[in-house]
Amino acid sequence: MALMLGWQLKDGLGMAFELCESRGFDREAIAQRLSLVGLARPELRAQGEALQDRVIRPNCDAILDSFYSSLVGIEGFSKIVGEFSDADRLRKTQSRYLQSLGVGFDQRQYFEERLRIGSVHNRIGVPQSLYQCSFQTLQFLLIRHIPRHLQCDRSAFENMIEFILKITALDMSLAVESYCAAKMFGLEESLKIVRGERERLHHLSVTDWLTDLHNHSFSRQYLTESLDRARREESPLCVIMADLDHFKKINDVHGHLVGDQVLRIAAARMISGARTGDEIGRYGGEEFLFILRNTDIAEGQNVAERVRLRVNSDSVRSKNTEINVSLSLGVAQARAADNVDTLIDRADAALYAAKLAGRDCVRLEG
Ligand code: GH3
Ligand code: MG
Ligand code: MG
Repeated sequence: MALMLGWQLKDGLGMAFELCESRGFDREAIAQRLSLVGLARPELRAQGEALQDRVIRPNCDAILDSFYSSLVGIEGFSKIVGEFSDADRLRKTQSRYLQSLGVGFDQRQYFEERLRIGSVHNRIGVPQSLYQCSFQTLQFLLIRHIPRHLQCDRSAFENMIEFILKITALDMSLAVESYCAAKMFGLEESLKIVRGERERLHHLSVTDWLTDLHNHSFSRQYLTESLDRARREESPLCVIMADLDHFKKINDVHGHLVGDQVLRIAAARMISGARTGDEIGRYGGEEFLFILRNTDIAEGQNVAERVRLRVNSDSVRSKNTEINVSLSLGVAQARAADNVDTLIDRADAALYAAKLAGRDCVRLEG
């Protein structure tokens, strides 16, 4: 249905060559494609005009009649095209397609229009096989309408046949290009969705929904890897176990939702008190685990102090009341024989010591 619905959307005039751009049809690629279908010789340009003058213009209506009647016999054609266009419009666009066939075929505009027509047909659901068949029908009709006087001139006749075969091959190759690009685009889009979904699920599986910090299982996994690495690189590693003070009371007095809000604010303050690259996870209800790579206990203590001061730097305001927030922290440095549990146990013991010492303070292990 040579394939002429393209003009119904845009005429392409004055527009950038967006389809050529997206399919990589620059000057060089255009020259390559022309050479591939045997249309590279400049003198063939005149054949495009000759095809119009001698074959198409004198027989346009007859070609269109035969073309259309051969297509309506194909199962599914009327349904697909009928949904998009009435017979009159279709005929007009087909006629415009025919009258531009071969004219300026070495120009970017020609490639752009052919790519556009292919993608329009793909979009309205014309199967690629049907589309390709229609080119053969068109070839046959054009050859049949080569005038008798030209048929007598053997070389002119052969040149015209050759040109018809080449120009329809070019148009068909560009149409196929559009179909493939649409398929590739569809695949890329699906891949993007799948990748995005995978990232979203991964994020959910390692993130604490309330504070947006990493969750318990991520923290343990990260600590396992950090211990291995510290051992391999013989570098120091510290952990801090931190726990909000009298948090139960905040919930009891102000309600659970305010408690949630305090947790979120405290978590944000912990991030701002720690260093870039320090790992912070919500280890339990109001308990947080810091994993500090390349950090000895003296530097771990500095980080813990900074975090403590940041958390109690300001009260949290809620419904016109001020809520004081503070944090107790215990610091431990990894030893050669440590595993995740033994190291966390020592940081926990230091945290317990901080609670016993009156809370809102930092204690080191042992
Ligand atoms: P301490 O200073 O000894 O740590 O006292 P505390 O009150 O902070 O400790 P306790 O273990 O007695 O209470 C912790 C409270 O934290 C109890 C629990 O309901 C609350 N909690 C745990 N998770 C959440 C949460 O996600 N949201 C809110 N709002 N509260 C939570
Ligand atoms: Mg607590
Ligand atoms: Mg606790």
